Amino acid sequence: MSAQTLQWIATAIVIGIIVLILLAPKLMWWILIVGGSLCIVAAAVYKQGIPDGLAGGLFLAGIFALLSWFRYKKVARDQQRGRAIMATWLNHPKYPVICERCGAKLSKFRFPRTFTQLMWGGWTCPSCGAELDGRGKQKISQA
Ligand SMILES: [Zn+2]
Repeated sequence: MSAQTLQWIATAIVIGIIVLILLAPKLMWWILIVGGSLCIVAAAVYKQGIPDGLAGGLFLAGIFALLSWFRYKKVARDQQRGRAIMATWLNHPKYPVICERCGAKLSKFRFPRTFTQLMWGGWTCPSCGAELDGRGKQKISQA
C-alpha cells in the first residue's frame, strides 16, 4: 500500500470516529477499540511490511484491544458516576429535541458548530439560531 492510500484510510477512520461518537456515544468505546487496533496494524504493516509488520501489528493491536476492553468494563461496571453517565447515554432524552425558543424540531443528525458542541453536545437551532444544550434548553448567553 502506498503512503497516500494509508493517509486516505487514516482520514476516513478519523472522520468516521467523529461522526459515530456524535451519533452514538455508547459506541465510542467500540469505535476506539476497533479503530485503534486497525491503526496499529496499518502503521506496523506500513513500517515493516508483510509478514513481519502484520504479525507484530496484530500482536500489539490484540494487547491494545484487550486493555481497552478491560478499561471499558471497568468504567461500565465499577464507577457509579460512569454508570450514571452511560445510563444517560443509553436512555437519551426523547428525540426529536425541540427548540425551547421557537419550537423547531432539531435533527438527530447534526454537525457541531463549535469545539464545545463537539466535546459536550448541544445544538444551534437552524430556525432561530438559539444556542441550546443537548435537551433543547436554551443556554444563557453571556452577552
Ligand atoms: Zn429555535
